[in-house]
Amino acid sequence: FADLAMYRAKQGGKNNVTFYAPEMNAAGTARSSMEVGLRGALERGELQVVYQPLHDLSGQVRGAEALLRWHSAALGHVSPATFIPVAEDTGLIIPIGTYVLNEACRQLAAWREAGRPIERMSVNVSPAQFVRDDFVDVVRRALQSWRLQGRDLELELTERMIIRDVEGVSRRMAELRAMGVRLSIDDFGTGNSALNYLMTLPVTTLKVDRTFVQALEDSPGAYRIVQAIVALGHALGLDVVAEGVETPAQLLQVRDLGVERTQGFLLGRPGPPRN
Ligand code: C2E
Ligand code: MG
Ligand code: MG
Ligand code: MG
Repeated sequence: FADLAMYRAKQGGKNNVTFYAPEMNAAGTARSSMEVGLRGALERGELQVVYQPLHDLSGQVRGAEALLRWHSAALGHVSPATFIPVAEDTGLIIPIGTYVLNEACRQLAAWREAGRPIERMSVNVSPAQFVRDDFVDVVRRALQSWRLQGRDLELELTERMIIRDVEGVSRRMAELRAMGVRLSIDDFGTGNSALNYLMTLPVTTLKVDRTFVQALEDSPGAYRIVQAIVALGHALGLDVVAEGVETPAQLLQVRDLGVERTQGFLLGRPGPPRN
């Protein structure tokens, strides 16, 4: 519920009690220099999209996930886990997210052009993007620019967006599904996991978080959780993807458990596109 707590803290007014922590100044400085660097990063060409393959059970590449990279002139390489939250807080995620969508569509079209049979492209979407009224149009335009169909695209959403503007989110999801766009719940099982949204929202895919996949070998609990997620997904007619597959043993296990797709360092790391 950390996200919810943060959300509440942001919504909260003057009456909020804030505790001083010694490390806050340093962290605050790092964050604001990141904010400064991130502004203009697009224009300076510091943002790049890399791609990680998704494999079917036979090991064939079927899809790719677009993942953003930032090589900052001032700060060096910064992980998306660090700069995406800053981009979200500052609103920079809107132009950056549009850039990623467009780049990912361009790359899928280029692969198709080169005769590579990649079924679809997966793109991560932040709540701040998805709650905007123009989001569906942004997606439609990216697809049209590269003559792609809705079914060529899968959007990866997180459970944390579902607590915000449920009605708007559900309406946008329905519009995207009507276009054929697939909707995946990323990092499934680690968010504010409430299962009720799966009853009503038109999700197509569950991505089992890599913490479960990576615990498979040591923890019978993790095994049963992944087993249950696969059963839940399949009972609802959804595809299940296992992310973070790093070892042959994990691959065997998730295949055994019946996931449709696997993704992870074992079979493919994120990298610049090769045609
Ligand atoms: P995610 O969407 O869950 O992406 C998967 C992350 O797991 C990627 O990290 C990927 O490199 C990493 N990964 C894949 N296979 C393995 C594995 O076998 N082992 C391990 N240890 N890690 C693996 P990355 O690229 O650093 O991205 C981190 C997160 O940043 C993403 O998690 C996503 O939430 C966010 N992100 C990245 N690009 C974008 C973007 O364009 N837009 C938005 N909104 N978020 C993004
Ligand atoms: Mg993802
Ligand atoms: Mg993921
Ligand atoms: Mg993840």
